[in-house]
Amino acid sequence: MAVTILTHPLIQHKLSILRDINTGVKVFREVVSEMAMLMCYEAMRELPLEEVSIMTPVAEANVNVLAGKKLALVPILRAGLGMVDGILELVPSAKVAHIGLYRDPETLDAVEYYCKMPHDISERDCFILDPMLATGGTAVAAAQFLKDAGVHSIKLLTLLSAPPGVEKMEKAHPDVEIITCAIDPQLNNHGYIVPGLGDAGDRIFGTK
Ligand code: URA
Repeated sequence: MAVTILTHPLIQHKLSILRDINTGVKVFREVVSEMAMLMCYEAMRELPLEEVSIMTPVAEANVNVLAGKKLALVPILRAGLGMVDGILELVPSAKVAHIGLYRDPETLDAVEYYCKMPHDISERDCFILDPMLATGGTAVAAAQFLKDAGVHSIKLLTLLSAPPGVEKMEKAHPDVEIITCAIDPQLNNHGYIVPGLGDAGDRIFGTK
């Protein structure tokens, strides 16, 4: 399985803003969205192009446009929602498929509580969005959910990862590429990434 770490200075700078305890909810939300937009640049680098003929103000030209591949953004509720708008700025025709999964605080297992997919999800290239890949429970469950629905092409976009989550995904879904901005060393006893950035959902939605 491919794990791509985005080391671009702009992305690393923005990740440091997210990590900072003094970053407030407004800036945090904006920066999550900006990072998702930048990550989209990497995640969609293989989208097929087709050549069309147009007129520039000067002459006729054969130019490349997206070949109209069907895409779906799959935010894992709720923190994944923070990554949707930035990506939709770049690919406004992508559909959004919501999956509600939460981590059982005792077992840390993923429990599904909501799901709404476009009817043609099996034909779409899917991009799972979740800011944090910690234990990997929710990401593994989301990828399995999509595969059960017939999806063949899945990438996971996550701002920050930890080794247990990466390993769990690698084992369960070796065909799913992980695109992340950093892999931190460890998890604490509550399943939080260390040093991490705290609870991404709480920091996006101001619930703490
Ligand atoms: N989810 C979060 O929001 N933060 C973590 O550190 C781990 C999981």
